[in-house]
Amino acid sequence: MFKPIEPKQNFPEMEEKTLKFWEREKIFEKSLKKTESQRPFVFYEGPPFANGKPGIHHILARAFKDIIARYKTMRGFYVERKAGWDTHGLPTEIEAEKRLGIKTKKDIERIGIEKFIKTCQRSVFLYKDEWEKITKRMGYWVDLENAYMTCSQDYIESVWWILKQIWERKLLYQDYKVVPYCPRCGTSLSSHEVAQGYKRVSETSVYVKFKVKSQSNTYILSWTTTPWTLPGNVALATGKNFDYVKIKVKSNKSEEYLILAKDRLKVVENDYKIVKRFKGKDLVGLEYEPLYSYVPLKGKKAYFVTEADFVSTEEGTGIVHIAPMYGEDDYNLGERVDLPKIHTVDEQGKFKKEVKPWAGEFVKDAEKDIIKNLEKRKLLYSTELYSHDYPFCWRCGAPLLYYAKLSWFIKVTAVRDQLIKNNEKINWVPSYIKEGRFGEWLREVKDWAISRERYWGTPIPIWKCEKCNNIKVIENLKELEEESKKKLSKNFDPHRPYIDKIKLKCECGSEMHRIPEVLDCWFDSGSMPFAEWHYPFENKDRVDSGKVYPADFISEAIDQTRGWFYTLLAISTLLKRGPSFLNVICLGLILDEKGQKMSKSKGNVVDPWNIINKYGIDSLRWYLYTVNQPGEYKRFREKDLQKVLRKFLLTLWNTYSFFVTYANANSWKGDIKYQISDLENILDKWIISELNLLMENVIEKLEILDVTGAGRDIEIFIDSLSNWYVRRSREKFRIGVKRDQNAAFSTLHYVLINLAKLLAPFIPFVSEEIYQNLTGEESVHLADYPKSDKKLIDEELNEKMVRVRQIVTEVLAERAARGIKVRQPLSKLKIRGGKIENELIKLIKDETNVKEIELEIDSKLNKTEYIKDSLDTQLTKELEIEGMVREIIRRVQEMRKKAKYSVKDVINMNYEVKDSQSKVRKVFDDYSKDLKRDLLVKNLVRGKSKDVDVEQEIDINGEKVWVGVKKIEKY
Ligand SMILES: [Zn+2]
Ligand SMILES: [Zn+2]
Repeated sequence: MFKPIEPKQNFPEMEEKTLKFWEREKIFEKSLKKTESQRPFVFYEGPPFANGKPGIHHILARAFKDIIARYKTMRGFYVERKAGWDTHGLPTEIEAEKRLGIKTKKDIERIGIEKFIKTCQRSVFLYKDEWEKITKRMGYWVDLENAYMTCSQDYIESVWWILKQIWERKLLYQDYKVVPYCPRCGTSLSSHEVAQGYKRVSETSVYVKFKVKSQSNTYILSWTTTPWTLPGNVALATGKNFDYVKIKVKSNKSEEYLILAKDRLKVVENDYKIVKRFKGKDLVGLEYEPLYSYVPLKGKKAYFVTEADFVSTEEGTGIVHIAPMYGEDDYNLGERVDLPKIHTVDEQGKFKKEVKPWAGEFVKDAEKDIIKNLEKRKLLYSTELYSHDYPFCWRCGAPLLYYAKLSWFIKVTAVRDQLIKNNEKINWVPSYIKEGRFGEWLREVKDWAISRERYWGTPIPIWKCEKCNNIKVIENLKELEEESKKKLSKNFDPHRPYIDKIKLKCECGSEMHRIPEVLDCWFDSGSMPFAEWHYPFENKDRVDSGKVYPADFISEAIDQTRGWFYTLLAISTLLKRGPSFLNVICLGLILDEKGQKMSKSKGNVVDPWNIINKYGIDSLRWYLYTVNQPGEYKRFREKDLQKVLRKFLLTLWNTYSFFVTYANANSWKGDIKYQISDLENILDKWIISELNLLMENVIEKLEILDVTGAGRDIEIFIDSLSNWYVRRSREKFRIGVKRDQNAAFSTLHYVLINLAKLLAPFIPFVSEEIYQNLTGEESVHLADYPKSDKKLIDEELNEKMVRVRQIVTEVLAERAARGIKVRQPLSKLKIRGGKIENELIKLIKDETNVKEIELEIDSKLNKTEYIKDSLDTQLTKELEIEGMVREIIRRVQEMRKKAKYSVKDVINMNYEVKDSQSKVRKVFDDYSKDLKRDLLVKNLVRGKSKDVDVEQEIDINGEKVWVGVKKIEKY
C-alpha cells in the first residue's frame, strides 16, 4: 500500500515537512558523504552582504546554484558547497553610522574608531538569520556552518598574502590621480563601482567669458557642465588644428569680441560678424584674466591658453576650461604643461576656506551662486539645460565628484592581455556576455583603485617610513610579529584601529606607520578562491592540486560582470593562476510586472516569503528555471507563477495521485513487477521510449548548463504522460485485464520514479515526496541521476505517435467546428498512409470516438495523415443512443466526485424521467448493464428516493432526468 494522497495538496506545508526530514536525517550531509571519494566538481558561492534582507533576486541566483550542484552530486561528483559572507565595506559602515546617529568621518574619529568598528562588527550579520532561514527554506543546499567570512583573521591573512604577491610583481603603486570620489562617504570608488550608479540628470551648464589680457572687450568663450570647478580654473585648452574665429557681437548698447571654434558658432545667440580667423595652435600662449584668484600659484604659470587632444567641437565652444584637480584629462594636461595643482575643494566636497564666498558650502549646492556671481560680473554669456548620465555613489546616492587624490592602484592594465586570454577559457551562459559586456569591460580595463579612506575593511598591509618614505608590505601575521618584534595574541583582531598601533622599524632608524587606508571590499570577494581556504597558510595542496580550484561553476546576476566576476578573474590573473572559474550562468535581473526595477521607494518589491508561503518554493523554482532564458530580464508576475503551478506542478501531482489511488484500489504493490523491456502494449512501450529519450536529452542539456531547455523538455513529457498516456490507459488502471493492468501499473511506476529522479535537482521537495512514497527509499537526493537505456528508445514509434496525436487533434478540431460533442460517437473517418499498427488505429478510434477507420493505403507516403473532411457526421439511432449513455455516465461520474466517493465505492442509483415515451428512459432500460458496470452501481432503481447522498436534475440531449446516488455502507 502506498501512502494515500490528500485530496487537496498543500504544497508549502508538505515542503516544511520535507525540510524537517532532511535536517533530522542529515540528507545533505549524507549526499556529500556518498560522493566524498569521487571526482570534485568545484563550486564557488559569491558572498552576499547579510545586512539587508534577502530579496527575490537572491532566490533566483540561489535556485540556479542549487540545481547544478544537486545535479552534479547525483551524477556522482563531490560538490563541496561552502557558504560565504561579504562583511566589509560601506554598506556595513553606513548601517553603523545610522545606529550611532552620526554622519561624517569627523564624527567617527570623534567617537573613536574602536567604538565604530565594534558597531560595524555587530551589524554585519543583522539579517544573517533571515538569510539562513530563506536559504534553508528554499532548499538551497550549502554548508552554512563552515561559511567563510571576509572579516575573519584567516581570510584577511590570505588577502594580505595576495596583495604581497602583487607588490612583488611591481603592480602595486601610489599616485595622485583624479578618481570618482564620494564626498559623503569620503572615499574613492573603483570604476566597476562607478559603473553601477549612473543616472540621467538635467543640469545647468554655463558659457563663460574669460577676458583676454590687454585687449579691451575681448573674451574667450568656454563651456562647462560643472560650474563648481570654475574657481579651480587655471588654463584653457584648444584643439591645435581646429578652426577658431574672433567675432564681433552687439549686445545692448555695448560691443564685444568673442573667440570660439568656428564649428560652434551656433551657440552664439546674437548677431555677429567674423573679424578674424585662427588655428587652435595660434591661440596657444594667449593670456587671460583669472575668473577667481583663490588658487595660490606658488610660482607656477597659469591663466593661459594651451592645446590638448581631448578637445572636441562636438559640443560646447571648442575651448575647454581646465581645473587639473577635478578631471582626469585636466590632471594629465596639468602634468604635461606644469600647471599649479591645488585643491579649492576639501575631501567632504565643500569649498575650502580660501574660496571665501562659498567656504564650507557643498560644491553642487554652491553652483547657483557661482552662476549669479558670474552674471553680476558680466562674465556669464548664457546658460543651457544639459541632460547627461552622471555617476552617483552606488551605496549612498550622493553625486560623485572627479577629484584628485593620492590613491593606491593595482596596475591591471599591465595584465590586460592575460585577462582577455583567460576569459577565452570561460564558458559564459548566455554566450554573448563573453565578448560583449564582459569582454568589452576587459578590453577597456583601467588600473584598479583599491584604497579606501575608511575604517571597516581589510587594512592595507603597507607600512611607510615617516622619514625616508621607505615601504614594507606585510604578507601575514607571523611576518608582522617578526618585523615589529611584538608577540600578537592568538585572537589578534587585524582590523583598525588595533593594526594601526603596530609600528615597524625602518632601515633608516625611523618609525614606520601603517598607511591609514583599507581595501576595496571587492578585493575581498575576488580573493575568495584562495582566502576561503586560508591559502597558502593552510590547504595549500588542495588548492594547488586543483581539488578546490578553479571553480567548475558559479552563478550570479549580470551586475556582477563588473563586480565579482571581474574581481575573481582579475585576482587569479594577477596571481598567474589562469581563470578562477570555467563556467558561469549570468542571470538577468528580476523586474516588476511592468518591467520596472524593484525598489523600496516604488513599493513594488516582491517579498519571497509571501510567494513561498502561498505556492511553495518548488513552483517558484520551476518558474525561475523555465519562464525564459536565465540571462533575460524576468518580469515577475504572480499570474505566471499560478500558471506554472496549474500547468506543470499540478499535472505532475495529479498523475502521481492517480497512480497511487488506483494502485491502492487494486492492491498493486509493485512486488510482481512487469519487466519494462518485455512490455507489449503500444502505449506502455511508447511512454517508456519517450521517457528514455527525455533522460538522454535532459542530461545533454544540463551538461551545457541549459537549465531552461531541460526544464521545458520535462514539461512537454509530463503533458504527454498526463494528457495522452494516462488518458488513453485510464480504463486499464481501473478495470483492466489482470495482466494488462500489471503492465500499466509497472509502466507508470517506473516512469514516475525516474521522473522524480530527473526532477530532483529542479524541484527537490515534490520529487522527494513522490520518490519516497513510490520506492520506500530514504531520499531521491541520495539516488543516482537516471541514465537512459538506448534499447528502450523507439524513435519510429515516437514519430508514429506524434502522427496519431496530430490526426486526433485535426479530427477533434473538425468535431468542434461542426458542433458535435466528443461524447457523441460517430461512424467513420478516413486516413491515408503506409503501414500503421491496429493498436494505433484503435487509439485514434477511442480518442476521436469514431466506430470505424478506413485506411487508404498509399505506400508513397511515409507517414499517416488524416483525410480532411472525411469525418462521417451522420447520426444513426444507435449512435445517438450511445452518445446518451456516455453523457449519463459522465454526469453521474461528476456526482460521484461531488459526493467524495472513492474510486472503489459501490453505490445505489435512483433515476426518474417524467415522460414515459422519452428516449432517455429507454436508454436507462436498455443499457442498465453498461451504466451499472461503469458507474459501480449495485441497484439501479426507477423512481425518486429521499435516501440519497447527492441528487441532481441533469440534462440529456434536452431531456430532464432526476438522479440520486447513495453509497452502500457495507458491500
Ligand atoms: Zn557615498
Ligand atoms: Zn626610513
